[in-house]
Amino acid sequence: MVICKKCFVPMMGHMFFQKKKHEKYWKCPECKRETKHLKIRDFNLDYKEVLRNTYKENS
Ligand SMILES: [Zn+2]
Repeated sequence: MVICKKCFVPMMGHMFFQKKKHEKYWKCPECKRETKHLKIRDFNLDYKEVLRNTYKENS
């Protein structure tokens, strides 16, 4: 769990999906501050999908 350093309340986890990158970050419900975005690499299904699309584009 991530705690806001300013409000000391649990921050809410958010996923952020784009075509070629997945990110996760946490947002404080009180002050709306966000943590830095972390890149997610272990979404196997999505990753396979990305790979397939990449191969399609190249061939
Ligand atoms: Zn806060």
